[in-house]
Amino acid sequence: MAIAERKIVVGAGVAGLTLAERLCAGGGCEVTVLEGEDSPGGLARTFTREGFSFDIGPHRFHTSDTAVQSYLLEILGSEITAIPRASSVYIAGRYQDWPLSLGGVTKLPFSMLLPSAFDLLRVGTRGTPASFADHIIARYGRNLYRHFFRGYTRKFTGLDGSELHTDWAAAGVDRAVIDRKVKADSLLSLARSLVFPSPVTTSFIYPERGGIQRFPDLLAERIEASGGTIRLSTRVEGLLEDGGAVRGVRLSDGSEVEGSEVFWSAPVTEAFPGLELHFIDTIVYNVALRARTDNAYQWCYFGEPGICFSRLSIPRNFSEAMVPRGADSLVAEVTCPPGDPLWDSPSSMIQRLMEDLGRVGAAAPEDILFISPEKVRRSYPVYTLDYKERLAAIRPPAGLRLLGRCGTFWYNNMDHSISQGLAMASGGDVPREFWKTSVGTR
Ligand SMILES: Cc1cc2nc3c(=O)[nH]c(=O)nc-3n(C[C@H](O)[C@H](O)[C@H](O)COP(=O)(O)OP(=O)(O)OC[C@H]3O[C@@H](n4cnc5c(N)ncnc54)[C@H](O)[C@@H]3O)c2cc1C
Repeated sequence: MAIAERKIVVGAGVAGLTLAERLCAGGGCEVTVLEGEDSPGGLARTFTREGFSFDIGPHRFHTSDTAVQSYLLEILGSEITAIPRASSVYIAGRYQDWPLSLGGVTKLPFSMLLPSAFDLLRVGTRGTPASFADHIIARYGRNLYRHFFRGYTRKFTGLDGSELHTDWAAAGVDRAVIDRKVKADSLLSLARSLVFPSPVTTSFIYPERGGIQRFPDLLAERIEASGGTIRLSTRVEGLLEDGGAVRGVRLSDGSEVEGSEVFWSAPVTEAFPGLELHFIDTIVYNVALRARTDNAYQWCYFGEPGICFSRLSIPRNFSEAMVPRGADSLVAEVTCPPGDPLWDSPSSMIQRLMEDLGRVGAAAPEDILFISPEKVRRSYPVYTLDYKERLAAIRPPAGLRLLGRCGTFWYNNMDHSISQGLAMASGGDVPREFWKTSVGTR
């Protein structure tokens, strides 16, 4: 087969693997996937150690897109399990339901309760907010912003809410923050929901075993079974171009791979060096516990600046297969904005992490068997106020197609990445701003 028919997929995350699997299934071309890490999966990987399995934070499939649902069924088949969601948020020393419900807001200390409840009655969407902070205040009120979102946002991004684009809210917060079914728009509905709080029950899909990594693993098996190639530990360093068209990629060892089309799901900043867009890195602290805890949530957000992690997740509450019998575990996420010194010394946080886990009642220090930190690069795109103009300035050469969370710099979930892969494999393009039309979490 002529090299001109080779299609190169950069990145073996969910987007790149879905695309490659569909291209291979369609036949008629040679497909080569190039992946910098030593295993496929990207942000949807699972680390395994001493019988414990840890996803990169809480990972679940949740989508209303029927094409994605069918694809998940086709790939995971009978390994799919459906799990009712149980998420939580820790505010003022107490665990509340997440998304926040008015019933939950009533459990806040009195000094927070009244201002927050009255804010929720007054808020609206007047005018065009200039930043994330303006948007949240307009929508959820000044008090909830002050008590939760401000600290959480600074801890998570290293930036103040006024320095972030409103899309930061559209991507991650608006679709999950307030339980819309009980959102009060009148005094009567507020009273009704306080007396009869109605929790939202949603279910999500998760692989029966193998953690979230099972999905990329199954895709990789299919790609190889149908003649595609996946080259792991192969870093792409840049594009090869000829007369305004892409003709392949250059690898970090100096060698070249030629192809007629390049599908790029690695960070867009690596395809266009000099593009001033930034990502947040995350250190996930995988904590193995000798005994069961009573942590009932799948994941819980921690906004308080005094607590070092922004979220905890409990792998056992996704699948019992994630822990040895009788044992337990948790994953603590600590984000590192660009330049954060913690990135170079993750172990320096372990003592503080143990203290904070004890303080929030998640794990006692004497129950901890081991803590293993994993560094995850470019886990979140950062939407600074000018990010859209910067993104609009790029001019991809002919034959280069951008997809995936980091490739498009869009805050997609796995279902969005799958949908992008499916669209591109059938010759379509990536619809932008997925999150505004579908449900998910980050
Ligand atoms: C903590 C956390 C929790 C999440 N929870 C959920 C959830 O519950 N549900 C959900 O649907 N989504 C969730 N997501 C989002 C989900 O993980 C991503 O949307 C999805 O995995 C992105 O897949 P992708 O293929 O688009 O990108 P990526 O996973 O980023 O894949 C890109 C791939 O490119 C590779 N790469 C990078 N640079 C190079 C290079 N130079 N050369 C070769 N390869 C390179 C990377 O190693 C990676 O494998 C979560 C994300 C995080 C960080």
